[in-house]
Amino acid sequence: MAIRLDGKALAAQCRAEIAERVASLKAKGVTPGLAVVLVGDNPASQIYVRNKEKACAEAGIQSFPVLLPATATQEEVLAAVENLNRDERVHGILVQLPLPKGLDERAVLAAIRPEKDADGFHPYHAGKLMVGEETVVPCTPRGILMMLKTAGIPLRGKEAVVVGRSAIVGRPMAALLLREDCTVTVCHSRTADLAFHTKRADILVVACGQPQLITGDMVKPGAAVVDVGIHRVDGHVVGDVDAASVEPVAGWLSPVPGGVGPMTIAMLLQNTVEAAEHALS
Ligand code: NDP
Repeated sequence: MAIRLDGKALAAQCRAEIAERVASLKAKGVTPGLAVVLVGDNPASQIYVRNKEKACAEAGIQSFPVLLPATATQEEVLAAVENLNRDERVHGILVQLPLPKGLDERAVLAAIRPEKDADGFHPYHAGKLMVGEETVVPCTPRGILMMLKTAGIPLRGKEAVVVGRSAIVGRPMAALLLREDCTVTVCHSRTADLAFHTKRADILVVACGQPQLITGDMVKPGAAVVDVGIHRVDGHVVGDVDAASVEPVAGWLSPVPGGVGPMTIAMLLQNTVEAAEHALS
């Protein structure tokens, strides 16, 4: 039976350490601030934003919610970002994705000052990550790497397979694993034989947005499997991995819920605190 990669417990530890760093910043007269820009009324986005604000409050980070209607124009969204760029109380800025249709997501993300980019989605950070330099790393892959390292899973020289090539999960995950000396394969919707690749993986990170796509017969015995997906199916929360069939085969498995999700939020707080620390230095 796979060892559980308990993201919830690790995130709680991270958040306790973050709260200490916040306290030491406050002692120097700085309260870290995170602005969350939400455009429109997508119910899932509203829940994510509420969770992020709650986590900020618990860590002592001040939230600056910016709510814009679904009818907001590109210029209005860019103007809101520019206000936050100039606001000295704000150390981190996050634009909740997806933006309503008609808005240019890439242009909005690129308008965030890189020093204030709490998500690490700015092309500046993406480029630095790609060339293997230290930079702001997107929260989900950063949290996944911490889970793997904390569990003591060997990375150097191992075969890592990432299923999904999005700019927010798959691509930065692949770049991070490469930086850790894994041999990395990235699969996507046009991959000819997905199982051929997944079966070779010592480390398998699944972020394809397809409920329970990865089954036990697609996993190498003893592999570390990280399930990024989150879906509600027939009233149950499931991931991109079929946990029931993968658990007996894998060496490690992250649960859904309680795996990657809590780590993503913890890393958002960490990126914000680091931005505040840099602003002070
Ligand atoms: P995207 O929809 O942006 O990307 C999905 C990727 O998976 C694409 O690259 C796509 O390929 C690939 N893909 C789709 N179907 C298949 C398939 N059948 N076989 C192989 N690859 C496939 O998703 P995200 O990266 O944003 O998110 C992935 C999942 O993770 C979602 O379920 C999302 O809800 C979840 N998520 C969870 C987070 C958390 O904190 N727990 C944070 C972020 C995301 P192609 O490029 O060819 O279209």
